[in-house]
Amino acid sequence: MTRTLSAGALPALLLLALPCVAATVPASMSQGALVEATVPAGSTATVNGKSVHVGADGMLVFGAGRDEKGPITVVVTRPDGQRDTTRIAVTARAWPVERVNGVPPKTVNPPPDIAARIQREQAEVAAARQRDDEREDFAQGFIWPVKGRISGRFGSQRIFNGTPKSPHPGMDIAVPEGTPVKAPASGIVTFAKPGLYLTGGTVLIDHGFGVSSNFLHLSRLNVKVGQHVQQGEVIGAAGMTGRATGPHLHWGVNWFEVRLDPMLLQGIEGTSPH
Ligand SMILES: [Zn+2]
Repeated sequence: MTRTLSAGALPALLLLALPCVAATVPASMSQGALVEATVPAGSTATVNGKSVHVGADGMLVFGAGRDEKGPITVVVTRPDGQRDTTRIAVTARAWPVERVNGVPPKTVNPPPDIAARIQREQAEVAAARQRDDEREDFAQGFIWPVKGRISGRFGSQRIFNGTPKSPHPGMDIAVPEGTPVKAPASGIVTFAKPGLYLTGGTVLIDHGFGVSSNFLHLSRLNVKVGQHVQQGEVIGAAGMTGRATGPHLHWGVNWFEVRLDPMLLQGIEGTSPH
């Protein structure tokens, strides 16, 4: 029962067949990629020393962040006690620089009281990302939540009104205000609030095993915390609430706190959501 691995459509992906029992852990992965691997059912596993879920079917999942240098060490302990250690090389990517002008100045350099509010809101969102469910909704693959022109790429170094900011943690897809946003994979809503200072209308969906999506700048929210959503179900509408210079959907994907590139997800067809 080997399962197809996905680290995005990456040429460097090699499958390393471990001896004896079918276990698949890739030999390399790309920065920003999510990898699904299969190990013998009943195994336990750690990724860089952190215990991760192994599903009843032997599925495990992990991601590499934008600045991950690797190698990522995966240790699998089989039911019979045999231990396999795989060091996964991480392929570096070149990150574009994106200059965005016309951003409202009070959102680029917020005053102290606003900075405190932003910190509070971000802590609340970060807490929602700690959920570690046995559900394998991520394994069904992902569809585009909206279709349109990509107006911002994951990982780009952003310069707002001339001030360098942290790298872009997701991808932006330019769509008209009010465009329905669909759940890219099934899951449970772990956060749903309008009016966050930077991100405006904000929804998080947990897809299981620490994999989650976030949807920002929404003009409308159709879901509540705790609600189960199916892939393709409308969760809200795109807008430009929070820090945005035009209507678009910001879609981010995480493995716990590690931010990933949605374009590298399993099932996402092609390289653009047109
Ligand atoms: Zn964005």
